[in-house]
Amino acid sequence: MIEFHEPVMVSEVMRHLLSRPREVVVDCTVGDGGHSLEVLSRTKGTFVVGVDVDSEAVAVSRMRLGESFPGRFVVTKGDYRELPTVLAKLGIPAIDGALYDLGVSSRQLDAPERGFSYWGEGPLDMRMDRESAFTAREILNTWSEEEIGRILRDYGEERFSARISREIVRAREEGPLETAKDLVAVIKRAVPGPARRGATHPARRTFQALRIAANDELSRLGTSLERAFGLLRPGGAMAVLSYHSLEDRIVKSVVKSLADRGLVKKLTRRPETASEAEVSRNARSRSAKLRAIEKVP
Ligand code: SAH
Repeated sequence: MIEFHEPVMVSEVMRHLLSRPREVVVDCTVGDGGHSLEVLSRTKGTFVVGVDVDSEAVAVSRMRLGESFPGRFVVTKGDYRELPTVLAKLGIPAIDGALYDLGVSSRQLDAPERGFSYWGEGPLDMRMDRESAFTAREILNTWSEEEIGRILRDYGEERFSARISREIVRAREEGPLETAKDLVAVIKRAVPGPARRGATHPARRTFQALRIAANDELSRLGTSLERAFGLLRPGGAMAVLSYHSLEDRIVKSVVKSLADRGLVKKLTRRPETASEAEVSRNARSRSAKLRAIEKVP
């Protein structure tokens, strides 16, 4: 049996996304289609458009949902930043709901050849879109020590960013860093003993930072949220699940600027988090923050 990515905060997301009848809902990060499946099975006529930059996610969600919900689900490979173009191609001028479930899927994380995980042995790839040319390997082997240090600090909130970037630049003089294992070894050399033995793996933050940089995740997000809002019909809802503080900060600031202009009603006054029961069942939900808004008529 295929193991699908377990969707996070399903009932909370659906409460906001499906607070009224919806004609068209866009799942901007469809992944394995866990959230889309819920939208489809909890509604009668709602049409769901799935979007993902990862062609494997497109194939998996299509296989999982296309046949079970004939005429109600379509999925396209695309960047959520290009949402207006993606929808225009499908002949869809406006939408009633948009969902973003940010970060990496467990399918991506568990595929060692994609290089997302520090426990794997794969190449330092980390591209969500495997047709893009830019990889984590390129960052590690060509960027300056300062630039690498900056992303580790800003995107990874890594305390030892300076030490790690120095060690990366030193190590690559002997030959390019190629695999997740190479990088983990460098990080272990760079951080002080206690950090090497701490509760969180010493490479966790560096891997997160590289993933964000390799996919230009933060700048895409802000642009996309604004464009998606532009496509929403009055009364339409937008729900965003984020997994670290930088993502949430962007979501919060887009929401605030829309709310200050009186364009949206906040459906969540503060970000909602997963229940204890869910966190104990699904570790990925631990850091999830959900914000939702409705476009005012
Ligand atoms: N909700 C999904 C899981 C989503 S995981 C489920 O229940 O199965 C996040 C997904 O976002 C990944 O598949 C990733 O490829 C996708 N993604 C990341 N950046 C993207 C972007 N810029 N545009 C579209 N999809 C993106």
